[in-house]
Amino acid sequence: MKNIKKKEKLMMQSFVQYTPTKVVFGKDTQKEAGKLVSELGITKVFLVYGGGSVIRSGLLDEIKKSLDEEHISYEELGGVKPNPRLSFARKGVEKAIAFGAELILAVGGGSAIDTAKGIAIGAANPDTDIWEFWKNKKELKKALPVGTVLTISAAGSEMSNSAVLTDEETQDKSGIGSDLIRPKFAIMNPKLTYTLPKYQLTCGIVDIFMHTIERYFTPVHGNELTDEIAEGLMRTLIRNAAKAYENQEDYDAMSEIMWCGSISHNGITGLGRPKDFLCHKLGHQLGAKFDEAHGATLSAVWGSWARYVYHLDEARFANYGRKVWNIDEENDEKTAVAAIEKTEEFFRSLHMPTCLGDMKMGVQPDEVLKEMAGKATAGDTMKVGAFQKMGAKELYEIYKKANHR
Ligand code: NAP
Ligand code: FE
Repeated sequence: MKNIKKKEKLMMQSFVQYTPTKVVFGKDTQKEAGKLVSELGITKVFLVYGGGSVIRSGLLDEIKKSLDEEHISYEELGGVKPNPRLSFARKGVEKAIAFGAELILAVGGGSAIDTAKGIAIGAANPDTDIWEFWKNKKELKKALPVGTVLTISAAGSEMSNSAVLTDEETQDKSGIGSDLIRPKFAIMNPKLTYTLPKYQLTCGIVDIFMHTIERYFTPVHGNELTDEIAEGLMRTLIRNAAKAYENQEDYDAMSEIMWCGSISHNGITGLGRPKDFLCHKLGHQLGAKFDEAHGATLSAVWGSWARYVYHLDEARFANYGRKVWNIDEENDEKTAVAAIEKTEEFFRSLHMPTCLGDMKMGVQPDEVLKEMAGKATAGDTMKVGAFQKMGAKELYEIYKKANHR
């Protein structure tokens, strides 16, 4: 591969591994919420949730009961929307400060968790607007602790160091990364995901896949075990995605997917290598501008990205094909191309989009594609990605390829 010496590429890379989240996994684990909060010596909790699924399922009441049993007082804020908004998180900061919250407890998915993380940052830094931290204008030095009760296997935010919010005024969807916002605990009961709409189930599966693959295709990849974990995760996810798609109440399949979600994004699948996450950058623009579901925005662009870059390291793509898809064509290039096709087939088997035209936003004119490519690179002032670092021009090329297939 260009710019990378073979020797350097295959050496064991140094890394820092930090996964402080206590995971409590299994049936009925939501009943332990109060105990987990109590163990941290916390008595005032600010609950954050989404548009109502946790009310309808009775989960929120169960959590409140469990807090009551431990004599923990709480205040709540429901109404987080998917592609969570900055203004809503700001509102949460004000309420959490007024209440004197000691821990922010998210009940829901990535959107509720990321909002909770935003509130945890804001409530610990009352003199600073949270967007200052997102935009690196201020260094983040403290945050309130966050706990989570997960209801959808997708974002991996229950163990990750990141939070993504959208400034709806500027249509800017951006993330922040800091070990300070890794949740203290994550309650994961796969049964809670039985009620997911099918589209959310499959969007989640794609997101999990993408968190893994965007750490797999990087310019440096020497650590064998890291690769094996990533490849095993992708195989496990593919197998169980089909089962879960067939029967959403298959406890084992939903469990495997849930655990894949956390492992895919807690860092362990990418030790000692930079994250690529270029498709996430492309997808965030689609989420911010068209309010498309996160997972869908990723499957819609991945194939176009892969075809644009695979020739830079055909051996790596071929290795992916052999280990994950069990295919071996007559040479690396053919195996690489077949692996890309297999991946897109997988997305389609879940009825996920593989181009912009497959989504409700539809095919977009050139000027919109250019505008999004510009935004993703801060007006072409920075390069994004790692496998191949790209500016606005290259992102525009990928969007163009992704428009329709
Ligand atoms: P989500 O946006 O939290 O939830 C998606 C939808 O699923 C909502 O409408 C929600 O309804 C519904 N839902 C969730 N659980 C349900 C259940 N058990 N039964 C029925 N409906 C349920 O989904 P997500 O994919 O987890 O989060 C996406 C966000 O996370 C995106 O903004 C993405 O950019 C971000 N993200 C963050 C990270 C990170 O590490 N921080 C990583 C990747 C992605 P209700 O609102 O009614 O609950
Ligand atoms: Fe994601």
